[in-house]
Amino acid sequence: MNIESKYRVEPGSEVDLSTWKTDDADGVDRDQIEAQTEANTLAISELQHKLYAQQQRSVLIVLQAMDAAGKDSTIRRVFGRVNPQGVQVTSFKRPTEDERAHDFLWRIHQHTPRRGHIAIFNRSHYEDVLVARVDDLVKKDRWSKRYDIINGFEQGLVNGDTEIVKIYLHLSKDRQKQKLTQRLTDPTKNWKFEAGDISTRSKWDQYMTAYQDAISICNTNHAPWYIVPTDRKWYRVFVISEIVRATLESINPQFPDPKLDPASAMKLLEQIT
Ligand code: ATP
Ligand code: MG
Repeated sequence: MNIESKYRVEPGSEVDLSTWKTDDADGVDRDQIEAQTEANTLAISELQHKLYAQQQRSVLIVLQAMDAAGKDSTIRRVFGRVNPQGVQVTSFKRPTEDERAHDFLWRIHQHTPRRGHIAIFNRSHYEDVLVARVDDLVKKDRWSKRYDIINGFEQGLVNGDTEIVKIYLHLSKDRQKQKLTQRLTDPTKNWKFEAGDISTRSKWDQYMTAYQDAISICNTNHAPWYIVPTDRKWYRVFVISEIVRATLESINPQFPDPKLDPASAMKLLEQIT
């Protein structure tokens, strides 16, 4: 089985996160994997170049995870080689007052990718059925209706030629403790630590339930979820680079036909000294 399909959630299945591995790298040759990651990032850059030139399709990559899972470093590692002009990263934080005064998709829709582009959502509209549910930011009768709204929204994007890939970085609770501890002990990481990280961690089980529901209910053939083992960075980056590469390969972007006949354009060019 290839890596991309190994971690893709079967549509219609009920997800139990305790049965998905947070570390699947035992017995895997790290050097070999890192070489493959390197090859994937180069391939992603070439494919993105064609996607950008063709300006027909777009890609939306949604990244969701508990705190300190490594979303930021994954983005750096997987997309570090692509032309920044064709990739937009949006990090969704707590909604502003203006954002809260609108429906939950209002702030999201403005950041979906234009043709030829890749948009990366570092957190996303899924927060509105995760933190909004766990922290009671809105009542159940409101958040419970959002799953269908999300499915319809994503279907609309797909109909508009956007390919959607949703990735849950599956981190173990023990590994999160280590990473949050590093944020407190390493002065170069102190800035990442937020008081909210502790209260979010204290609600770990409620978050797992909310993630399970979101992944199970909003997992479709056109906008699938992947659950990626995240405890080891080099393996996580490898798996995500495989998923992104496979997605771009399935789009199979091509350089478009020239807008003018190159031979006659060359003649015109030569006439001008
Ligand atoms: P890290 O994984 O490194 O901790 P992060 O993605 O948590 O990074 P932060 O700036 O620490 O980034 O936090 C963003 C915060 O915004 C998160 O606590 C998240 O739950 C919150 N947030 C995002 N979207 C919403 C939303 N729709 N409603 C409420 N809170 C939200
Ligand atoms: Mg955080």
